[in-house]
Amino acid sequence: CGIMGYIGGKPSQHILLNGLKKLEYRGYDSAGIAVCTEQGLKVVKSQGRILELENRLQDEELAGTIGIGHTRWATHGRPSDLNSHPHTDNDMKFSVVHNGIIENYLELKEELSGQGAQFVSETDTEVVSHLIAAHYDGDIVKAVQAATKRMRGAYALAVLSAHEPDKLVAVRLHSPLIIGIGEGEHFVGSDIPAILEHTRDVYILDDGEMAVLAREGVELMTIEGNLIAKTPLRVNWDL
Ligand code: GLU
Repeated sequence: CGIMGYIGGKPSQHILLNGLKKLEYRGYDSAGIAVCTEQGLKVVKSQGRILELENRLQDEELAGTIGIGHTRWATHGRPSDLNSHPHTDNDMKFSVVHNGIIENYLELKEELSGQGAQFVSETDTEVVSHLIAAHYDGDIVKAVQAATKRMRGAYALAVLSAHEPDKLVAVRLHSPLIIGIGEGEHFVGSDIPAILEHTRDVYILDDGEMAVLAREGVELMTIEGNLIAKTPLRVNWDL
């Protein structure tokens, strides 16, 4: 229901949690974050309010300057800790947050299970993390593109990989997603309020578009991989 992503030079945990709080108005039943740490991908998630998530994070701060966060409004699989996002593959190399519905998830789940993937949740979203892992061949952008080719339905996705800890990939089809442009830092959000305390320059992604965020800059392309140019929108209003 709400997505927040960060790549930059600051500790990401606080930025992710703050962004998620700004998206609270969208409603949610669970929340979670994933951060690329020096020990690899770390995920903390919880059913309930963002406060529950913050309580869990009190004992273990996820240290890292790239991360993704999610507030969930369950469509497939009841609200629970395990069904909360982010979801990962079995080797904990890829982490995904998703808004929307993957309509052909049962078919994909069967196929991926047949290839050895072990599913730990009841969500439609978990197929995405396993699907990206299955398609990974050294290039996270290509893996996400290949995965989206197999997916039917609606999605806004933010994807993190421990293999490429300097890149955040965002893609959308029939679910909103925006990119915040900063200096040496960039943001992904479901909506402008999530990022407005950091920057007023945003790209609004259209259907079938993706963004590859690095600390140095943002590259925009179609899901097919054709580079596109977009004029940033300057946000003049306040919350
Ligand atoms: N379909 C996904 C789920 O139920 C995402 C729901 C959402 O948009 O929050 O986990």
